[in-house]
Amino acid sequence: MSALFMYKEVNMLGSLFTDIEKLKGVGTARGEKYRKLGISTPYELIFHIPRAYLDYRAFVPVSQAVLNDYNVLKLTVVKKLAPQRIKGGLVICKALATDGTDDILIVVYNNVYAFQALKENETYYMHGKVNGNFLRKEIMAPVYIPSSEKMLIQPVYPLTQGLSVTLVRTAMRQALEMMKREPFETMPSYILNKYRLCPLDYALENIHFPTDEDAVSAARRRLSFDELLKLQIGMSLMKSRSRRSTAFKMDSSVSIKPFTDGLPFELTEGQSKAVSEIISDLCREIPMNRLLQGDVGSGKTAVAAAACYFAAENGLQSALMAPTEILASQHYNTLSSFLEPFGMKVCLLTGSLTPKKKAMLREKIVSGEINVIVGTHAIIQKDVEYKALGLVITDEQHRFGVAQRAALAEKGDSPHKLVMSATPIPRTLALIIYGDLDISAIKQLPKGRKPVNTYAVTGKLRHRAFGFVKARLDEGRQAYVVCPMIEESESELHAVKTYAEEAANGDLKGYTTALLHGKMRPNEKDKVMKSFRDGEIQVLICTTVVEVGVDVPNAAVMVIENAERFGLSQLHQLRGRVGRGEFESTCILITDNVSDDCVKRMKIMSSTSDGFKISEEDLKMRGPGDFFGSAQHGLPTLKIADIACDMELMNEAQNCAREILEADPMLEKKEHRTLKLDVMRLFEKEIIG
Ligand code: ADP
Ligand code: MG
Repeated sequence: MSALFMYKEVNMLGSLFTDIEKLKGVGTARGEKYRKLGISTPYELIFHIPRAYLDYRAFVPVSQAVLNDYNVLKLTVVKKLAPQRIKGGLVICKALATDGTDDILIVVYNNVYAFQALKENETYYMHGKVNGNFLRKEIMAPVYIPSSEKMLIQPVYPLTQGLSVTLVRTAMRQALEMMKREPFETMPSYILNKYRLCPLDYALENIHFPTDEDAVSAARRRLSFDELLKLQIGMSLMKSRSRRSTAFKMDSSVSIKPFTDGLPFELTEGQSKAVSEIISDLCREIPMNRLLQGDVGSGKTAVAAAACYFAAENGLQSALMAPTEILASQHYNTLSSFLEPFGMKVCLLTGSLTPKKKAMLREKIVSGEINVIVGTHAIIQKDVEYKALGLVITDEQHRFGVAQRAALAEKGDSPHKLVMSATPIPRTLALIIYGDLDISAIKQLPKGRKPVNTYAVTGKLRHRAFGFVKARLDEGRQAYVVCPMIEESESELHAVKTYAEEAANGDLKGYTTALLHGKMRPNEKDKVMKSFRDGEIQVLICTTVVEVGVDVPNAAVMVIENAERFGLSQLHQLRGRVGRGEFESTCILITDNVSDDCVKRMKIMSSTSDGFKISEEDLKMRGPGDFFGSAQHGLPTLKIADIACDMELMNEAQNCAREILEADPMLEKKEHRTLKLDVMRLFEKEIIG
């Protein structure tokens, strides 16, 4: 079904689908601003969900306002002072106000309208940052409502310059009235009843104009449920496309003993269990759809190699896809060393190969001469044809988008699929993020691994920290120094380069250092990575490009600068680069941030190395919504579930999706029609193609 058709269907709703400019108070100029927020119709406006709420009932006396922080106050304006014009054309307006406990100055910058609306002797609820000291207080650029206002819970919207919350509320009111005249409901009533969900019109009214917090939570629950359900149904529809087909059924009598006997180590219990679960899937006609979860360093690659071995012994090819070239080349090295002794051919196919080399490899792939193809997303490009692709493995799956997952699944008739992830996520979350994958988990690390000693220090101790690093370098070890580069912007890159230069000429003078960052060309990165692996470079100063999978057992120290800028799970991933060999390893987190949140993260990092525990803490601190918001998993963007969902709701949405699809696998029933359109809209091109 085409996107156009969907649009027409929904278009039957009529006036909600006219241009946003049709609303009173929205002209061409403001229309542009709405479009900037992704809103071009009244319909899109009513789905513009508040990011938070301001509760004006929770006001505090001025005398108890927390300084340098946001407060809600109930203030009577005593006297408005004449506006002052200062340089740069800026206008500052001030008014004296009081609540009887203390006086305060209201300060409004450059917003004469907001100031003019204030009346002397009137009382308002105000929300804003309070500066000053106990002698003299100011509330800066407050948002406010008159004290006569009945609705004391007010939404906070994602806004853009020139579009105030008041304007949005006026437009919203009109859009909601339109909806009242042409009511619609997307969810069949049996679902609303069964899952105790409020009707859509009630939800939308109360998400924007709530009367109390119960109304807000009912509204959020309904709207989050909708999104989670659609997400879940969409994922399942994607999966069922491949479930319907049949896969190569491999021969269960093929033994992998020669492979395991040839390994330089014995598989851990978790690894062996995962291998046998995978093999039993491979010997079925239904394509495997399995997630292999294991903490960093738990040895997922060996499990993948076992699966490739098994496929090759069955005469089938395997493809292993990694998110970066560095990782792909590392996997290539590992897999070739494990598999080539058995006469199996492994190749590395990445975007940076010359066209000639690529063409040559492609020929060998289509002829079946090559058994295992390792690479980046280059291996799912259309021009790569396989002779008999039986197994597709993706590493660090959360880095790939839905579209890439789908493209890979379409290679070959219907290959078995294994997805590897080092992000241990609670099962409920995994069920949503990975749809209906079966899950194998490697819970323990190989024997003899020592936990990485982790310390959090402030910048004052940097010099001493580097003293420690140098002592380890002198013992022959290597080190990583990680600098955050979150925005990938030029200025951040510049900061990282400067840092590297200063370190090389300062704290690390006399040691060989090199810089590795994401903006380098793939072959440059590879070169640096290779010399680090070969021990020619002692200290690798890098951005998060090392986060995923890089394996250098001699690297036993990691320093993480500006550690506050990383989330818990990311810190854990980073730290997983050390402690991979026989050496005692150390991770030093440097941060000057003393916020509660940061201190808590540093404490968790210093006290545990259990990835599952860390991800659960992460989940507790950030809420499941953040996992959706992080864009790492490649799922469609959710609006409300991002900020409002909880585990229980996710469970319910999961059950509901299952029930619906069991009764109506392709959503063909009339009562599921709107739901289907909604699902397709959420996934847009990704599943419609
Ligand atoms: P990850 O799960 O993070 O991808 P890797 O597959 O990169 O982990 O393995 C990490 C290291 O552990 C590699 O050097 C690998 O050779 C080693 N390794 C894997 N399995 C075992 C094992 N059973 N015993 C000892 N070392 C192992
Ligand atoms: Mg790995």
